Amino acid sequence: MGSVSIPEAKLNSGHAIPVVGMGTASYPIATPETFRTAILEAIALGYRHFDTASFYGTEQRLGEAVAEAIHRGLVKRDDLFITSKLWCTDAHADRVLPALRQSLRRTLRLEYIDLYLVHWPLSMKPKDSKFPVDKEDFLPIDLKAVWAAMEECQRTGLTKSIGVSNFSCNKLEQLLSTASIPPAVNQVEMHPVWQQRKLVPFCKEKGIMICAYSPLGSNGTPWGSNKVMECDVLKEIALDNGKSLAQISLRWLFQQGVGIIVKSFSKERMAENMDLFRWKLRDEDLLKISTIPQSRGLTGDNFVSVNGPYKSIEELWDGDV
Ligand code: NAP
Repeated sequence: MGSVSIPEAKLNSGHAIPVVGMGTASYPIATPETFRTAILEAIALGYRHFDTASFYGTEQRLGEAVAEAIHRGLVKRDDLFITSKLWCTDAHADRVLPALRQSLRRTLRLEYIDLYLVHWPLSMKPKDSKFPVDKEDFLPIDLKAVWAAMEECQRTGLTKSIGVSNFSCNKLEQLLSTASIPPAVNQVEMHPVWQQRKLVPFCKEKGIMICAYSPLGSNGTPWGSNKVMECDVLKEIALDNGKSLAQISLRWLFQQGVGIIVKSFSKERMAENMDLFRWKLRDEDLLKISTIPQSRGLTGDNFVSVNGPYKSIEELWDGDV
């Protein structure tokens, strides 16, 4: 398969976002050579949107691979869409701009990114990030002040658009009540086994684009499960359509009108994951998918603690569990 053109959607900031993006989170982090090869192959195949975060430890490797791709004339910077995220230890009003500058200058080595997201709706004591997180470090987030600093990031041109990740409807309402610039994106877990039935219509009404992370259920990672890849309904639909199960999950997301962030560092699976645009799921397939029992994969229990702002998973997601 040669280079494929991935469709774009328009964000409320006026900028275009390729609807399928490549994830870069893995644990442990891929070796520099595996990472470099994967990003260069992804660009050659037609991926233009790359998702990283200071917490993933992949900003530098992504920046190096992107610099090489530009240097080799494979792509121009303006044709790429790079997303990164503000980690909780920097979710304090006075640390937001310095954190983005640090990501740009020291790690990504770019002049701007396309989208900067508040990674989780909470703060942590300002210190170096580590995984797993220390539950004693959690603090409530001053959303109004942190978001004002995010808006400053956009105004200064260091990022083209701003958004959030892992925000419930309630937390978005709270944010929107004081925001001058509404979030362009809410990046959340979404796939046929967690369809985000509350959040999708809410975000649509507010003009916020959902980008679906872990669209295959993140099989094989410490934060994922095989709930999607072992789902019998999806297996049956894949067989009926002559597609892979992964393609059924991804195409279903595309038909919901949301963006997709999928991670593969295998060239074959990368190609498979973007071969979504010349066929579609039938109404009967969509009906079957609507009957799949729902459950989150990434429950967020790492962010729940007796002394923190969220004492239960229900509080973290405002009951949407
Ligand atoms: P995912 O994309 O659902 O799944 C990735 C796993 O599926 C990898 O083990 C990958 O292995 C495998 N895979 C990929 N394509 C496949 C295919 N066609 N058939 C079979 N297996 C396939 O999970 P994810 O990495 O958790 O999510 C994607 C990205 O979203 C992350 O990398 C990260 O950038 C972002 N994310 C954001 C948050 C957040 O809080 N905002 C949370 C989680 C993830 P191979 O590489 O070997 O193909």
